[in-house]
Amino acid sequence: MKFGGTSVATVERIRNVARHVKRELDAGYQVAVVVSAMSGETNKLVAFAKDAAALHDLREYDAIVASGELVTAGLLAIVLQDMGIKARSWQGWQIPIETNDAHGAARIEAIDGARLMHGFEAGEVAIIAGFQGVHLPSGRVTTLGRGGSDTSAVAVAAAIKAERCDIYTDVDGVYTTDPRIVPKARRLDRVAFEEMLEMASMGAKVLQVRSVEVAMVHKIPTYVRSSFDDPANPGLGTLICDEENIMESQIITGIAFSRDEAQITLRKVADKPGVAAAIFMPLAEANINVDMIIQVVSDDAASTDITFTVPSADYEKARQLLEKDHDKIGYASLQGATDVVKVSAIGVGMRSHAGIAAKAFKALAEKGVNIRAITTSEIKFSVLIDEAYTELAVRTLHSLYGLDAKG
Ligand code: ASP
Ligand code: MG
Repeated sequence: MKFGGTSVATVERIRNVARHVKRELDAGYQVAVVVSAMSGETNKLVAFAKDAAALHDLREYDAIVASGELVTAGLLAIVLQDMGIKARSWQGWQIPIETNDAHGAARIEAIDGARLMHGFEAGEVAIIAGFQGVHLPSGRVTTLGRGGSDTSAVAVAAAIKAERCDIYTDVDGVYTTDPRIVPKARRLDRVAFEEMLEMASMGAKVLQVRSVEVAMVHKIPTYVRSSFDDPANPGLGTLICDEENIMESQIITGIAFSRDEAQITLRKVADKPGVAAAIFMPLAEANINVDMIIQVVSDDAASTDITFTVPSADYEKARQLLEKDHDKIGYASLQGATDVVKVSAIGVGMRSHAGIAAKAFKALAEKGVNIRAITTSEIKFSVLIDEAYTELAVRTLHSLYGLDAKG
């Protein structure tokens, strides 16, 4: 069971979490609980670190921000003990949850489940501080990147061979799109791992992307459910599972969107081998994730225009790198835009149906929405459009693919 920041925001809410835990114990399960920091705590800790020095040692950043989860783990253990339930808190290094040394965004490499298993044998609930691990060779504490407790939970579930992983949050499941944009959005009963992976990468913020990767690799059935349900009678939420276990055959499962996109266009780049490498290698070396790429022939046929997108947080850095390499790459001008949004439609049904994306292009054109760039993969397509059209585009696609709730 994993509980996010809003679910453990106060001691009173932690008592409610304890009731959810008790229900599962009463049903005969052995339980490991992964907790986040109280909501707002991690932001506060990050701000302290920035205040201390804008550019700081990431090992110390990790030492600071990992502390939020320690508090909630201890508190939940005390609350459970007070209810007469045996419980013990665990920090990442105590288990240990081994990670690499990419401080601030470390990846879990191994989890030794032995100590947790001993606890279960003694009838103890294990309360695990999420978001953190240890780089064993240096002995330093690491953190997994924002939202990393989801990944802690799924990785622990895999390590102890859990029957399932329940991620409790402040929404009651995964929706066909953001209900704040489309009131007719529906909660999905089931989503395939691959679809969830695309949805999380394409902007649906309910789970950390990495947690879905881990769930998919280890085939851990993962539920997203609400911690605000009555602990005695909770809803089932959304099950993220293998494609084979999904009977319902809709072609499109969800519409995601991401405002964190920026577009860069290089005009009149020489049309010769090596130019794309000259543009994209320096960006890759700077760890800038390039997403959509389109190349078109310019009017003069000897040169080409290249358009691509980067995360908006990396826009300035990308621009500077490209301007620095202006002579090496050789282009006439650089144009950029940050008021763009990427809208994506996702569904495993796209594999076996033709013309799904074409329908969308037509529907968007009829609404006067201009498409700046397109990318497709086996189970999704994305369009880059002006940010002002976000709601119109998302609503249009949501209706087009029959996702609107009835009534
Ligand atoms: N507390 C961390 C964060 O706010 C990790 C998490 O909640 O998943 O990012
Ligand atoms: Mg989260």
